[in-house]
Amino acid sequence: MATADEAQNKKAVFDAEAASTLMKELRSAFGSGKTRSYEWRVSQLKRLEKMLDDNEKEIVDALKQDISKPEFESTVYEIGMLKASVRVTIKEIKHWMQPVKAKTPITVFPSSGEIVSEPLGVVLVISAWNYPFLLSLDPLIGAIAAGNAMVLKPSEIAPASSSLLAKIIPEYMDTSAVRVVEGAVAETSALLEQKWDKIFYTGSGKIARIVMAAAAKHLTPVVLELGGKCPVVVDSSVNLQVAARRIIVGKWGTNNGQACISPDYILTTNEFAPKLVDTLKEELEGFYGKSPLKSKDLSRIVNSNHFARVAKLLDDDKVSGKIVHGGERDSEKLRIAPTILLDVPQDSLIMNEEIFGPVLPIITVNKIEDSFDVINSGAKPLAAYLFTKNKKLKEEFVMSVSAGGLVVNDTTVHLAVHTLPFGGVGDSGTGSYHGKFSFDAFSHKKAVVYRGFYGDASVRYPPYTRGKLAV
Ligand code: NAD
Repeated sequence: MATADEAQNKKAVFDAEAASTLMKELRSAFGSGKTRSYEWRVSQLKRLEKMLDDNEKEIVDALKQDISKPEFESTVYEIGMLKASVRVTIKEIKHWMQPVKAKTPITVFPSSGEIVSEPLGVVLVISAWNYPFLLSLDPLIGAIAAGNAMVLKPSEIAPASSSLLAKIIPEYMDTSAVRVVEGAVAETSALLEQKWDKIFYTGSGKIARIVMAAAAKHLTPVVLELGGKCPVVVDSSVNLQVAARRIIVGKWGTNNGQACISPDYILTTNEFAPKLVDTLKEELEGFYGKSPLKSKDLSRIVNSNHFARVAKLLDDDKVSGKIVHGGERDSEKLRIAPTILLDVPQDSLIMNEEIFGPVLPIITVNKIEDSFDVINSGAKPLAAYLFTKNKKLKEEFVMSVSAGGLVVNDTTVHLAVHTLPFGGVGDSGTGSYHGKFSFDAFSHKKAVVYRGFYGDASVRYPPYTRGKLAV
């Protein structure tokens, strides 16, 4: 019988038959028990680390090709984050794999309990284009650490990165248990017909609904890492220059705004807005110069569809006259300059979808506390940020704003804290990962109770006399 790879090569399309063959091969590898051992997990993680070391240049080049990502961003936010993640996992995995003792109640005395982490089986990771290495390999690190067999389906929208992943993963990893399938809707649909033990999806909420519906047919659990409109609340009690720089680096310094946790809009008071705009302009010019369309430190828009999507948000009549900075575009080079809008109406297109690009609207409120109501009146964002020195405001923010994650006095940095879960809530996703949370996302927490044969209380044995109820 042809292997799944041979079938794929022969037909050039990855169809339902190839998906079914692939699943059989992975079930067999998982069934052999090899992926469960500590040794296999660590050896695969070390291979993955070596793969990153050996292919740094290739990764930077692929990201340059796909989205003209600056080398600094590729090195720090993709390769560096992955290396940190794999190192923490190698260091901690033995500890994570240990059963955890659980107290048992008097009703089952004498007994002891423990929680055993077992691999789920064969899992599917579907990733997005904007951080094609990080969003593909970080879930894989969790899936390997937890002892699963797996398929990675990278995004076709970052083709150089997808093809590099498809080339290097088989060169370094155990291909009986770690596979890559490249492709778009047809290939992903073929994969989704299979019965997976978990699907880990990163992308838009629209496609997440397709993924979740396919998973529901098999009662497959899902992690959905989605996006949303991440707000930044800026109070007047801040170090304005530091706040502006941290907003800029979170917005334009992460793929030029094409990141799930990059600031989507700012909320500040009417009074403070002009000062904030002036400082943002000043710092933007300091970072990217007077001709930002030419800056090598800004990614381009990924493709012409996304360029047209962002351009449409700017061309909406409702935002006409609201540009206070930037607005320049080059449709041939797919570049849009860092752009700030002031006081766009809430019913404009831009305030009703995730921007995922280099445009930052500022919405003004009378009192800074009103910002929290504005945030809570919309879909729950993946991240929310607050800049303030006011202790009471910080407390109110943490207690009242619902989002996947919060950061006070910075943007996006929670992504790098591996002791915190990373994930959304409501429309921004379900489930989380990073560090131990990745291991847990790909493990079943099996409840085990141990008993002996002594102390055999007869209370629960029939006949059920009234006297036994009093015990
Ligand atoms: P995308 O277009 O790359 O799609 C994601 C994946 O879905 C791809 O692998 C793609 O092949 C697959 N796909 C597309 N159409 C499909 C279909 N009809 N059926 C099955 N699979 C299909 O990425 P995107 O959706 O443009 O990503 C952007 C979104 O992802 C934004 O909303 C962003 O906020 C979110 N995002 C979230 C995170 C996170 O960690 N939470 C990270 C990055 C991006």
